[in-house]
Amino acid sequence: MRSRPKIQDRKETLEAKKRRVRNIIKILDQAYPDTTLALQFSTPLELLIALILAAQCTDELVNTVTAKLFKKYRTPQKWARIDRDTLEQEIRPITFFRNKTKSIQACCLELINRFDSNVPESLEDLLTLPGVGRKTANILRGNAFSQAAIGVDRHVGRLSQLMGLTKETNPDKIEFDLNPLVPEDRKVRFCHLLQRHGRSICLARKPQCTGCPVKKLCPYAEKAPFTEPKGKIK
Ligand code: SF4
Repeated sequence: MRSRPKIQDRKETLEAKKRRVRNIIKILDQAYPDTTLALQFSTPLELLIALILAAQCTDELVNTVTAKLFKKYRTPQKWARIDRDTLEQEIRPITFFRNKTKSIQACCLELINRFDSNVPESLEDLLTLPGVGRKTANILRGNAFSQAAIGVDRHVGRLSQLMGLTKETNPDKIEFDLNPLVPEDRKVRFCHLLQRHGRSICLARKPQCTGCPVKKLCPYAEKAPFTEPKGKIK
């Protein structure tokens, strides 16, 4: 009896890849039924600030710092008017706290001057804000405005590579590869699931393929432990 070709040996059609993605989502959904975005927020402004703070920093640390700040500063005006030294001290445990202080205040000034003190919902408008790239804009659109959007953070990018959904290393190009593969109404969920899976089993230092619930759908499991991921997410 001929054995089924391995995923890595097959020329996978777009339809087959879409089916594989739907099955990966289904299995991870069962594995992590309650998972959601790790950053805590209750308004689009809070999520915008949390995302600026989260660059190259852990979500846990950001949540600890923002828990106090979000009670004190609730509007773009409050954030923009805090004395810069004071804000720097308040976010000091966070990496690059000086640059992030500048970004938060510049962003809030733009919100006041150009968007009537609201966080805009469209990708085009969000991308005009200082320090906001596609990842931040899409995470905001998906999580604060319930839009179908894929925000490629380090987990989403790395796991998509391992799962053979993209060969790209640039997050914007990874997003373009993923968009046609993930159903519209599952895009945000797909990101939450990959983020959670990347923290629990598909670890950056060594994916735990043996115990992974999607190993039959993942070409990396067939190659592991001999091959490293193709490239770092830039
Ligand atoms: S099989 Fe391995 S590489 Fe693939 S998703 Fe699971 S842990 Fe990650």
